[in-house]
Amino acid sequence: MNDCLFCKIIAGEIPSKKIYEDEKCYAFYDISPQAPVHFLVIPKTHIKDANALSAENADVVAHAYVKIAEIAKSLGIAEGGYRIVNNCGKNGQQTVPHLHFHVLGGRMMTWPPG
Ligand code: 5GP
Ligand code: ZN
Repeated sequence: MNDCLFCKIIAGEIPSKKIYEDEKCYAFYDISPQAPVHFLVIPKTHIKDANALSAENADVVAHAYVKIAEIAKSLGIAEGGYRIVNNCGKNGQQTVPHLHFHVLGGRMMTWPPG
């Protein structure tokens, strides 16, 4: 049995505010937004984190970035700019072990990240 939270969101077992989906990825609003626009893009295949990427499965990353660009335009944050974040593992403070890209926009970001 797959106990992954994001796999359950993809399967519709846990509700989410969907923005976009296709055969490879699912995009939805983060439940705890850290910016006026904060959404997540996840591959439909379960990949634990960035460490689990390889030449065999990494096509989903390029696909996710293309969709991020399209969604950013559709949500009106493309021109002003935005930040794409991928937290990996313990030090990266990843809390959901299913690869995901945060997209944060609608305000000025700060640097360096905490
Ligand atoms: P991480 O900390 O792993 O980089 O990011 C996980 C993100 O998933 C967090 O920003 C958190 O707010 C979000 N999240 C956790 N549980 C849920 C949920 O049930 N629904 C949605 N939409 N987002 C969630
Ligand atoms: Zn998963």
